[in-house]
Amino acid sequence: MKLFNFLENISEMVFPSNFKCLGCDRDILKGMEFCDKCEKNLPYNNKNICEVCGAKIDGVGKCVICGSKKSYEIARAPFLYEGIIKKLIYDFKYNNAKYLFKPLSKYMINCYLQNNMRADLIVPIPLFFKRFKQRGYNQSELLGVEIGKALNIPVLNALSRIKDTSTQTNLNFKERKENIKRAFKLVDKSVKGKNILLIDDVYTSGATIKEACSVLNSASVNKIYVLTLAHTDFNK
Ligand SMILES: [Zn+2]
Ligand SMILES: [Zn+2]
Repeated sequence: MKLFNFLENISEMVFPSNFKCLGCDRDILKGMEFCDKCEKNLPYNNKNICEVCGAKIDGVGKCVICGSKKSYEIARAPFLYEGIIKKLIYDFKYNNAKYLFKPLSKYMINCYLQNNMRADLIVPIPLFFKRFKQRGYNQSELLGVEIGKALNIPVLNALSRIKDTSTQTNLNFKERKENIKRAFKLVDKSVKGKNILLIDDVYTSGATIKEACSVLNSASVNKIYVLTLAHTDFNK
């Protein structure tokens, strides 16, 4: 332990670690992710949420979309998809800001623990291979690996994306649902009987998540919990 501290001090002398706020680049203390000002403006998604999908709602209970048929136990996201978080997710996906997976995953880990999720396996939502090649990484997998390390849960790429659904952003709810159909294939049957933690970056219409759940449910998984970094606010 002492040697480790010594080496850490040496490395800090050689590579001075400047801790910068993820939101505004201001200097912050080690162990922090945001400065006080940005922290206050984070779009937390912990008040008035649908008990099933975690969407922001007026009052309590379920949102209008979550009816009687459930494809998963619960879906939760620490943030709403807006403000600083929306910008960071954009950088994470499109501006090669790969370093963001570590600090952002911390909020997902807290969310997992606060919501009493109990998973045996982490399954990230996969990217279509062309997209993966383009980006060089799957942002959901990076988050999943970090969460798995912290919670001691193995990560399994049990799903493969066999359809390019990159046009999803310009589609409405119904079109998204149609577009995403048969987009995933099960590539590892060892999910059977397991409690799965499905990871994605953003929960938008739920079409992607539900399609992935239907493939996992066909493979006789026990329970599915869904954890994303952010949830779209349907009221906006
Ligand atoms: Zn800041
Ligand atoms: Zn809901």
